[in-house]
Amino acid sequence: MAFEIKVSDLNGKKCFQFSGQIDEEAEFPKMDDMPSHVLVDLKDVKAINSVGIRAWIMWFGGYPQTQFSFLNCPKALVMQMNMVEGFLPVRSEVLSLEVPFFCEDCDKEKDVLFEVGKEISIEAGQVKLNFDKSTICDSGCDPELDVNELKYFRFLLEKASEQAA
Ligand SMILES: [Zn+2]
Repeated sequence: MAFEIKVSDLNGKKCFQFSGQIDEEAEFPKMDDMPSHVLVDLKDVKAINSVGIRAWIMWFGGYPQTQFSFLNCPKALVMQMNMVEGFLPVRSEVLSLEVPFFCEDCDKEKDVLFEVGKEISIEAGQVKLNFDKSTICDSGCDPELDVNELKYFRFLLEKASEQAA
């Protein structure tokens, strides 16, 4: 699936909807009048490879004055946010992201969207999760976080400490 950016309006702000695979085929369009604050919806991004990562960093780096607010970050991009220095633009925040769970009772993986400031909060330099397990799987199930919590949410702590500095 080819990479595409669709521009729409969401609550009076420009929203860029990214979709497809971010790889050597992906072309990031040049934006002539980039607004000062843009929402970036990543829900339909399928994958990213090392060439795509470089293209991503170059493109966002070209708009240092713009504040980017990321929505619906899939796991594949959360991984890059944690591993790749500079993947998150300087002026940016992550509003919501996919969090993988596994339910042993049903033997099923469940990806759940968590919002920062709602299910995820940062208190005293630590990530706190606050959610109702019964909304993730069937009632009576005991789904578990399927990632290492410290690693998966590390980028949020780094962002928080950057902003505090
Ligand atoms: Zn279950």
